Amino acid sequence: MNAKAVGRLAPSPTGAMHLGNVRTFMIAWLRSRAAGGRVILRIEDLDHPRDKPGAAAQAVEDLRWLGFDWDEEYVQSERIGLYRDALDRLLAAGLAYPCVCSRRDVAAAQSAPHAGEQLRYPGTCRGRFSSWAEAAAAKGGAPCWRFRTPPDAVVTFDDVFAGRFSQDVASALGDFPLARDENGAGYTLAVVVDDAAMGVTEVVRGDDLLPATPAQILVQRALGLPEPAYCHVPLVVGPDGLRLAKRHGDTRIATFRREGMRPEAVIGRLAATCGWAETGERLSLVDLLPRFDLATVPHAPIMI
Ligand code: GLU
Repeated sequence: MNAKAVGRLAPSPTGAMHLGNVRTFMIAWLRSRAAGGRVILRIEDLDHPRDKPGAAAQAVEDLRWLGFDWDEEYVQSERIGLYRDALDRLLAAGLAYPCVCSRRDVAAAQSAPHAGEQLRYPGTCRGRFSSWAEAAAAKGGAPCWRFRTPPDAVVTFDDVFAGRFSQDVASALGDFPLARDENGAGYTLAVVVDDAAMGVTEVVRGDDLLPATPAQILVQRALGLPEPAYCHVPLVVGPDGLRLAKRHGDTRIATFRREGMRPEAVIGRLAATCGWAETGERLSLVDLLPRFDLATVPHAPIMI
């Protein structure tokens, strides 16, 4: 790590900012800032119709209130031309194709998928359509773009927090989706294009995305883009061990704020879960700069 580190905060405006996502953002911000590096805010608003009106502005307000700052700000829905260019390059290389299969079709082709397991796509639509328009007409609805995964696509990388991770993408996922949008404006393609375009060197995010990372690395390689360092940290879970959600009570930042809680109390509470503060200690993000240390962050899911 050095002062050239570029990290990013990439909220999806699909819901409110809460203790779970803020903990990950705190680690992401500190990892770059503690090294004297830069931070980018990127609003990932391509997930229609899950995106909620007003959620992006609320996320920015919550982050500022908590003491986050950043050097550049981007909104993915304003960058569709870049995703289109990347998609065209993949198409020209024969590495993308439109697919009309539904999730149910894919599940039916897989004999016994285990709970929570990602679906492996068997390549049904490979070579089937010559264009998106042809696929859309055959489906009578929107197809998706898939990546043509090579048969020997074993990807291994050293995650800064989670350690070495290896996946045979062909047997784990098969031809995975790049985007559900004609111009390629979807999560997998956009995250790869943007991390490279923004010079991101440090990807810090929840470890639910660890199994999706090898696919992203394949897309990076296909486009000739550099590979950032990955740091996947455990998610915050409720007492039932499931990812923090509404049913676990209201941990929205906007609610804490309305109730008169100070940002230092929120940050202090989250810092305590990383081994950087005593219980009840109040701290700003800046106070945490000298205390930041990934080595004290527990590897088990965090209960709040
Ligand atoms: N926007 C994604 C989320 O909020 C994060 C994606 C990423 O960090 O790559 O879950």
